[in-house]
Amino acid sequence: MNKSLRKAVIAGNWKMNKTRAGAAGLIEELKPLVAGAGCEVVACVPYTSLETALKAAQASNIKIGAQNCHWAASGAFTGEISGEMLAEMGVGYVIVGHSERRQYFGETDKTVNQRVRAALDAGLTVILCVGELLEQREQDITGEVCAMQTKIALSGVVRQELSRIIIAYEPVWAIGTGKTATAEQAGQACGFIREVVAKLYDKAAADGLTIQYGGSMNAANAAELLSQPDVDGGLIGGASLKAADFAAIVKAASV
Ligand code: PEP
Repeated sequence: MNKSLRKAVIAGNWKMNKTRAGAAGLIEELKPLVAGAGCEVVACVPYTSLETALKAAQASNIKIGAQNCHWAASGAFTGEISGEMLAEMGVGYVIVGHSERRQYFGETDKTVNQRVRAALDAGLTVILCVGELLEQREQDITGEVCAMQTKIALSGVVRQELSRIIIAYEPVWAIGTGKTATAEQAGQACGFIREVVAKLYDKAAADGLTIQYGGSMNAANAAELLSQPDVDGGLIGGASLKAADFAAIVKAASV
């Protein structure tokens, strides 16, 4: 596997944090800190802050993403936002299948697949989250869980569309807990997901796919996690809310 074939992507998942004023402030703080980064830098902000963040990030290297989108382009889905609506605003990225969506909002592998399909159809780049629960790791079925989630999520996605797919391996037990996977665990799981993608498509497609690690990545542990041959970046929750910490992770991915 050749890491240089892939783009490194550091994406912040701000979750339900920051008002519009706070979002503008954080983007402004980040801009000088990540200017000239050697990796792609994305901030996935709440829907209400998208327009503000897009404006603040203009003429910078920070790309803006959303944290979810619906599978229909429009219709009777109260409270939902479609991929088309995001794309029209100029949003380029969307997180799909985050474990918090699966855990608290009834997201299933099937709806994750539908949302992936809709986001691609709208022209967005998808950050697709997969990962095992603690009990699944303890039962030694991490590989099976990641394979199943990946295969179902990518059902109906054709090879050429993989250039707009980023997979984020996020062990659920490591998200927001301060408990990071070891670099070896992260590298192994990302490598395994790459093999699944190679079997679904082909080796060249898998070699070109960006696979991130996510789960309590921070300024102190990023370099070690990112040094793994199959870890091409990070999806960052808590640490993305502090400009200096997020910038340090971007720097670690830029070497
Ligand atoms: C996430 O929300 O995707 C995440 C990885 O969160 P944290 O970095 O806080 O664990």
